[in-house]
Amino acid sequence: MAKGRVNPNHTLETQGITGLGTVYYNLREPDLIAQALCLGEGELGQGGTLLVSTGKFTGRSPNDKHIVKTDSVADKIWWDANRAMSPEGFDRLYDDMLAHMAGRDYFVQDLFGGADPAHKLDVRVVTELAWHSLFIRHLLRRPEAEDIDSFEPEFTIINSPSFRADPERHDCRSETVIALNFDRKLILIGGTEYAGENKKSVFTLLNYMLPEKGIMPMHCSANHAPGNPVDTAVFFGLSGTGKTTLSADPERVLIGDDEHGWSDRGTFNFEGGCYAKTINLSREAEPEIYETTQKFGTVIENMVYDPETKELDFEDDSLTPNMRCAYPLDYISNASPTALGGHPKNIIMLTCDAFGVLPPIARLTPAQAMYHFLSGFTSKVAGTERGVTEPQPTFSTCFGAPFMPRRPEEYGALLREKIAKHGATCWLVNTGWTGGAYGTGSRMPIKATRALLTAALDGSLEDAPFRKDKNFGFEVPTHVKASAVPDILLDPRRTWDDAAAYDRQAAKLVQMFAENFAQYEEHIDDDVKAIAIREAASA
Ligand code: ATP
Ligand code: MN
Repeated sequence: MAKGRVNPNHTLETQGITGLGTVYYNLREPDLIAQALCLGEGELGQGGTLLVSTGKFTGRSPNDKHIVKTDSVADKIWWDANRAMSPEGFDRLYDDMLAHMAGRDYFVQDLFGGADPAHKLDVRVVTELAWHSLFIRHLLRRPEAEDIDSFEPEFTIINSPSFRADPERHDCRSETVIALNFDRKLILIGGTEYAGENKKSVFTLLNYMLPEKGIMPMHCSANHAPGNPVDTAVFFGLSGTGKTTLSADPERVLIGDDEHGWSDRGTFNFEGGCYAKTINLSREAEPEIYETTQKFGTVIENMVYDPETKELDFEDDSLTPNMRCAYPLDYISNASPTALGGHPKNIIMLTCDAFGVLPPIARLTPAQAMYHFLSGFTSKVAGTERGVTEPQPTFSTCFGAPFMPRRPEEYGALLREKIAKHGATCWLVNTGWTGGAYGTGSRMPIKATRALLTAALDGSLEDAPFRKDKNFGFEVPTHVKASAVPDILLDPRRTWDDAAAYDRQAAKLVQMFAENFAQYEEHIDDDVKAIAIREAASA
């Protein structure tokens, strides 16, 4: 049985997916919430939010993600970082998944990725969970109601958390599987309830498809000056570095918080919603995001709350530190209605340096920007494991290795070309530790980061005095006029009690960069290589 609105020429049945229970097509938010509650998938929260938990998986499973190795993609994929699945394994996986789905109810959303009509990708998302349907409806872009009648899915995602993969039979790694098949235009997800897999698989698709059209896909947030899309900024960064937090700036127009493309016409959001971390979310520091946690339909994942009042506890990370909320872009009051921006005037590379070495802001030459883009450095704090106090360095190329099917140099070259063509200014911003490494120092105050970004984006930072950093060679301002940022904060060495300890830590970090970068040296331009060699020498 089918309910809801769908293009009669493109139902699941016409796609060969038959034998399901009730299929709910394109339900809107109120009905999706009603279904989720009725199925016991979650609880109603304050303001009409939906409170859910994702069970065993509270984050993505990058090691269970596979790309099907068909002839048409075999020489385009970066197999060192992407796991292959055989076409035969995939075919069995698909058959077994369909057999598993028989008789069960499913929810279908017909959506698209890409706010620029010239580059959008129509995607059908078929989910077992009603709340996944609500989640992906928030996160991707929603067609007009009348466009549903003529919707033709280009790719289809099927997500069945209750399905268990068989590594032998399906040529995968565990019971959890995410498999992308570019030939069959299918993505199959099984064995995990973590909703973020849905949105990041669309991202992976676009990251594969767009470079061939000369479009740079970016794991970044973006915003622009009020009334002036020409003044666009993008913020690259790995998880937890501040993309979502810093792009929701009350003084600027939000384009998007996570995934964008850069075409000849400018930047465009791939998505239609945001997925924000809620750990220690404060009304004062992040008012815009805080508000969304009480708005109708916001999906709130893995948060502890009062069982009676449903009041959220932002400090309690006992389910996971990766607790989140998902909401449509327009829940941020100053979000762009078009989700389009100009060519980035400023490119910010965010890093959360828990070693406390990198300065809160530095200006990069184009070659340095390429070096940091290919390095993709951030660090994770130990914290969750007892006795582990050293921060863990993470180098994830293009600030998003798990979502990049192609070789990093391909994205690097495209970015470099666009930076040169449009004259963007590049910055490195450390949102991590100051005054010492994790354990001794403290996290950079959001206020300071915001003040520095404001100065960079409004151009006033260009007039500041700069010093050249001894360890990394980039330029660091020594004084920022009319801002709440004390000079000492700009020089991490001075924020440490023990300057010699800083120097040792800095040398170690330079060494880590150099060791990691060795893998790219043979594929890159000479000026970027020169930076790599200089760093290796100073380490
Ligand atoms: P993801 O890719 O996983 O969505 P993200 O880059 O969007 O990650 P955020 O969700 O913005 O990262 O997370 C940054 C976290 O760090 C937030 O919880 C924020 O409150 C906290 N934070 C603390 N200090 C800062 C700072 N100076 N700048 C940015 N964020 C900070
Ligand atoms: Mn984010």
